[in-house]
Amino acid sequence: GSGRAARARAVPQRIVASSEVERSYIMIKPDGVQRGLVGEIISRFEKKGFLLKGLKLFQCPKDLAQEHYKDLKDKPFFPKLIDYITSGPVVCMAWEGAGVVASARKLIGATNPLQAEPGTIRGDLAVQTGRNVVHGSDSPDNGKREIELWFKEGELCQWESVQAPWLIE
Ligand code: ADP
Repeated sequence: GSGRAARARAVPQRIVASSEVERSYIMIKPDGVQRGLVGEIISRFEKKGFLLKGLKLFQCPKDLAQEHYKDLKDKPFFPKLIDYITSGPVVCMAWEGAGVVASARKLIGATNPLQAEPGTIRGDLAVQTGRNVVHGSDSPDNGKREIELWFKEGELCQWESVQAPWLIE
């Protein structure tokens, strides 16, 4: 009856401390959007079996680009990098799953697309470091930091894929 329904609503189905869940911030850069590679790039992470927790098309302001790439601020290419990232809309994504950070880096490939292995996103779809179509967090800590930087409270979805039991035993 309604009593059981009320109890079910009051008790969250599963509580997982967010620190236990590994997430990577993946971003399709403006060249990837302009070149019509959005579907292709999202597909690679979907097909692999990670869980999409957040997704938006977004025009990045300069200060956010600078904060995101703050570790590179002394590099000679930093001003060009900021111009590139803010030159058009990007697609911001939060992907979740055990091992997602390292695995996404492998799916993305080396920073220089000419050195990226065929089969990787950059290896298949790009030719230059300054136009390498996609970003992926380099550590679980940075995954958390970058997702907090690019997404607002409430922009991530809490859901479970029906595929889960077919992906994880
Ligand atoms: P990654 O994106 O593979 O983690 P880095 O963190 O070293 O690589 O650099 C961040 C981004 O800065 C690169 O993806 C690329 O867009 C840009 N970048 C790095 N090195 C250069 C370079 N030598 N010239 C131009 N852009 C660069």
